[in-house]
Amino acid sequence: MSQPPPPPTTCPVRLVPWFVALLAAAWGAGMLAAIVQQRFAPLILFPLLFGAVVGAAAVVLARIIKLGHRAVVGFGAIAAVLLAVFAMHWQSYRLAVAQALRDAEQHAQLVQFHPQFATTTVPPPPADVWQFLNERAEQGRLLPGGTMLKHSAVWGMWGLETLLTIAGALVVVIPWMRHPYCDRCRSWFRTVRRGSLSRRSGEWVASRQKLSAEHLPLEYRLLSCESGCGATGLDVSWPVTQSVGGVVPAGGVRLWLSKDDCRSLLALLDEDAQHESPTTGASTDRTSSGARSEPPGKS
Ligand SMILES: [Zn+2]
Repeated sequence: MSQPPPPPTTCPVRLVPWFVALLAAAWGAGMLAAIVQQRFAPLILFPLLFGAVVGAAAVVLARIIKLGHRAVVGFGAIAAVLLAVFAMHWQSYRLAVAQALRDAEQHAQLVQFHPQFATTTVPPPPADVWQFLNERAEQGRLLPGGTMLKHSAVWGMWGLETLLTIAGALVVVIPWMRHPYCDRCRSWFRTVRRGSLSRRSGEWVASRQKLSAEHLPLEYRLLSCESGCGATGLDVSWPVTQSVGGVVPAGGVRLWLSKDDCRSLLALLDEDAQHESPTTGASTDRTSSGARSEPPGKS
């Protein structure tokens, strides 16, 4: 067995483009959210979904740009959410200004043909985004069920929705942060081989992780960084099984294989693939090409 890869360090060369791209994506998501929420904005669910979109952008960009520092990705995602929420209010303000200008134009036409309306007025467009938000807070916000929020309660609701948006982003980002990253070749680990372990190779794995025979059969997934420069990850999982001692709950564990261990396991898997009949349940699905007995990646 081997040690897991060390925690990633900060890499400014990747951090800066990632953060710039993330802020641009967050701004775009906020502008779009302002339009979407005019038609579809369920309470609680909308900010959670909005946050999940920003969190997914943070994760996808970190994957593409190969940025691995967990805390940076987490705090960057929170900063992106704050910008996205501001962008949403900013776009709502711009839409309100456009609506107010249209109303003023229609009112001018009305007065032209019906001078008796000259004494009526339409509200002027808000001077800036803060005035717009204050006016909305003064007008109040109707919640499902008929409760009307006013003044500071509306600001409080916006604050609560911002926290929910951050929560939505973290729901996406935090589980993804557990994925291993190789700091040496600056790449995320990817699955290079997966399938079911035969009884023989399952026992080989179980003996190294002190798993009992009741955990067999095992599903496996081999993880390697792009260059294969460090240890190889081996995820094994087992379904719910009925044994003599009772029900064994489903579970899984991640092991880190040294180059020698990885070579031994690959040799076993290759032998299983060649010699065992398909009816024994042993199967292999390779995401990398061809059979081989070398550890994943370059040695
Ligand atoms: Zn590597």
